Amino acid sequence: MQGFETITEMGHEQVVFCHDKSTGLKAIIAIHDTTLGPALGGTRMWDYANTDAALFDVLRLSRGMTYKAACAGLNLGGGKAVIVGDAKKIKSEALFRAFGRFVNSLGGRYITAEDVNINVNDIEQVAAETNYCTGVVSRPGGSGDPSPVTAWGVFHGIKASVKQRLGKDSLKGLKVAVQGCGAVGRYLCGYLHEEGAQLIVSDIDPEKVKQIVDKYGAKAVEGHSIYGVEADVFAPCALGAIVNDETIPMFKFPIIAGGANNQLLDEHKHGKTLKDKNILYAPDYVINAGGLINVYNELRGYNAEVARKQAAGIYNTLLTVYSEAEKQGISTHAASNAVAERRINGVKAVTGFKHTYDNQAWIRR
Ligand code: NAD
Repeated sequence: MQGFETITEMGHEQVVFCHDKSTGLKAIIAIHDTTLGPALGGTRMWDYANTDAALFDVLRLSRGMTYKAACAGLNLGGGKAVIVGDAKKIKSEALFRAFGRFVNSLGGRYITAEDVNINVNDIEQVAAETNYCTGVVSRPGGSGDPSPVTAWGVFHGIKASVKQRLGKDSLKGLKVAVQGCGAVGRYLCGYLHEEGAQLIVSDIDPEKVKQIVDKYGAKAVEGHSIYGVEADVFAPCALGAIVNDETIPMFKFPIIAGGANNQLLDEHKHGKTLKDKNILYAPDYVINAGGLINVYNELRGYNAEVARKQAAGIYNTLLTVYSEAEKQGISTHAASNAVAERRINGVKAVTGFKHTYDNQAWIRR
């Protein structure tokens, strides 16, 4: 069992084990760092092999949220929750309401949202017990599907990467290989097409590929061959861990910039290998922050235009990260971590800085 040693090493402020006897709820809420604001992050439901596995996941994911929010310039900290159990078996209104009461008991230090195996209906039930909840469709000001805003941020991240690596301001005529034509990939293809990029796409679902081919004249490739295509940009928008020892030798593109989470199988090793191969990598949590930016705007009174404008700011954030990487001679992934840590440590150093979590006070600011 991981304990104080682990949370000290990983920097967590608070880890809450939640148990409700009547519903059988077993959940862990991890608040990593609230220096910049309340800890926001989704709730995941997963049938973990044991408590250690659940704890490891929530600690890792919540820390990731701190870095994501910090780099994106949001006044949010990092948090995450996991509910332990099989999503096909344990879901009930009572269980989600019990969970909502635990979230509420933290007084706004943690704000929840959807994640793997948690849908809009589940969040509605959590929201019956707490206001510290985003993605609630039934409340006025809900932000809805984050995918278009995520894709808009990725699009601007691709433009920044092209500027940095190829010195070009436009994507016109450039080849972009998009892996995954799902919610993010499909919107991204639309934005890229509009700018005049040539698309190469892959998806395990042939129907999704067909739609992009028909609509935007994209070239379709199958399976692993996307890793070896001749392209200017590779935009992973499907799976994690696709940058690894097997795929890297196939890469012929000078830029990797896409929306998928956890693209590097090993952040340190593969981040450095990409640097050594002179492949510019847009750190995943920086380029895909549009979804988080979207829910952040929900907390402040949602306005789609403001959210899109803020997501477009990923362009400048990435240029800052790239400049940091050059200055320090480190991988872009290490550079984004450094940018996030500098912001957090800077704010920590402000004497007398205090957050008020009191009953939506933060949300109104
Ligand atoms: P999605 O499920 O809508 O789309 C993923 C697509 O990838 C699907 O069409 C699926 O068929 C395809 N796919 C799965 N395995 C594949 C493979 N081996 N090769 C090619 N295609 C494959 O998911 P999404 O919401 O578009 O998210 C895509 C990625 O972006 C995920 O990693 C997600 O965590 C990340 N992300 C999404 C958002 C968002 O706003 N939706 C925000 C941040 C990060």
